[in-house]
Amino acid sequence: MIARRTLLKAAAVVGAGLAGPGCRRDAEPPSPPVQDAAGHLVWRNWSGQLHSYPASRAAPASDAEVAALLADAPAPIRPVGAGHSFTALVPTDGTLVTLDGLAGMVAHDPERLQATVRAGTRLGDLGPALAAVGQEMPNLPDINKQSLAGALATGTHGTGRAYPALHGGVVGFRIATPADGLVDCDAVRNSELYQAARVGLGAFGVLTQVTLHNAPLTRVKKRVEPRRLEEVLEEWPRLVAAHRNVEFFALPFTGLAATITVDEAAEPVRPRGPDEDADILMELKRLRDWTAWAPALRRWIAQRVLAAGFEPAEAVDEGWKLLSNERPIRFNEMEYHVPFEVQVPALREVVAAIEARRPDVFFPVEARVIAADDAWLSPFHGRLSGSIAVHAYYKDDYRFFFDLVEPILRRYEGRPHWGKMHSLKAADLARLYPRFEDARRVRARVDPAGRMLNPYLRELLGA
Ligand SMILES: Cc1cc2nc3c(=O)[nH]c(=O)nc-3n(C[C@H](O)[C@H](O)[C@H](O)COP(=O)(O)OP(=O)(O)OC[C@H]3O[C@@H](n4cnc5c(N)ncnc54)[C@H](O)[C@@H]3O)c2cc1C
Repeated sequence: MIARRTLLKAAAVVGAGLAGPGCRRDAEPPSPPVQDAAGHLVWRNWSGQLHSYPASRAAPASDAEVAALLADAPAPIRPVGAGHSFTALVPTDGTLVTLDGLAGMVAHDPERLQATVRAGTRLGDLGPALAAVGQEMPNLPDINKQSLAGALATGTHGTGRAYPALHGGVVGFRIATPADGLVDCDAVRNSELYQAARVGLGAFGVLTQVTLHNAPLTRVKKRVEPRRLEEVLEEWPRLVAAHRNVEFFALPFTGLAATITVDEAAEPVRPRGPDEDADILMELKRLRDWTAWAPALRRWIAQRVLAAGFEPAEAVDEGWKLLSNERPIRFNEMEYHVPFEVQVPALREVVAAIEARRPDVFFPVEARVIAADDAWLSPFHGRLSGSIAVHAYYKDDYRFFFDLVEPILRRYEGRPHWGKMHSLKAADLARLYPRFEDARRVRARVDPAGRMLNPYLRELLGA
């Protein structure tokens, strides 16, 4: 039998991650082997579903080295961050460029709350570095393993009605392009390149440093609360208006959800506890396995547990310590961003479709809200967005993303997360992005020979 307490915890905190010191990186699973069975050096992404055999690997240690390799390294030249994207942006049989050697803070400005950071810095290392000078990124994604440039390149985001995705805080950047070498961009200097490459898929060149507008260190309270899914769906607009950051995880086949809210707090620090999320997720998997023959039983068990009642979990600390979580269980993911007004009906359809057709799904469906911005390739360009993300355990079949979930999200005018699975190509994207043609024009100017393009990017951008 499933222990009542265990399932209770599952409903309470699955995916929500109150536990665990926020910026620990040692809880990541070991990386997959770098050599295949024949001894060839292989690159793989985090989930293990993408791989390639780069002919050459470069780890430049200066901006000048980056610029030099763009001139003569074998193409396609693909920058890589932490390899946490699920789309084939990185794979190359040409040159793989890691910016791990270009990490750390270059300068900071306490009055403007700005910091200039090397592009390869991991978000998990940026947190303490910024905190040491009294700053933090205003918002963070669910994990902090990404490199800064890698996160920006795909429109990586957190949640919160007033909070744009990470690139919303980018004041300027330095990029090495095949045509022009090193170029400094901001809203005034090289402003077209700034607008096009702020979310640039690594297709315009290689970012070497980024200037961020940050927030002062802010103490927040993070609260994870198990709720009935139906109540959360009805209250969602009110929750979004009431909280600084809010998201929820809908647990298919249970009628349950976990809400996570983050709000400013003046209370004494109460650090997060030990990390139990991975165990909890595996409990949900076991529940799936044991009730596969009777999905109604799955709901009945979960509902009974919820009815028993329990205390929500809370932690109080600086935002950068609480916003991101550990995700040691590998998965594949699709995420679309729909206009906020249609997020709830779209999510209802997604959960209903999964419950009708895919009893194998046990990962929660995640819902967040992201403020509008004006970067040309930002999925949030010009509209307040609600995101909907579906996940599949890395050993499970994820084709339902494409045949079941994606058609629903496309009907709601969804724009896909650039780093998460989707099937859109240039013609679809041109309809969804009002500045798509402008971005293509700028890209062709800075990389006329297409040295940055792998086959996936050629299809995506119609190059
Ligand atoms: C467990 C997990 C949790 C996640 N949570 C979230 C989340 O909460 N919110 C969210 O929005 N996304 C999330 N993602 C997606 C993730 O943030 C993005 O895929 C992000 O792009 C990954 O960053 P990376 O450093 O691994 O970049 P990579 O995947 O290595 O590369 C991504 C892109 O960045 C480009 N790039 C890398 N370095 C440079 C450079 N120096 N200059 C120019 N281009 C460069 C690459 O060429 C590529 O196009 C999550 C992914 C995982 C696996």
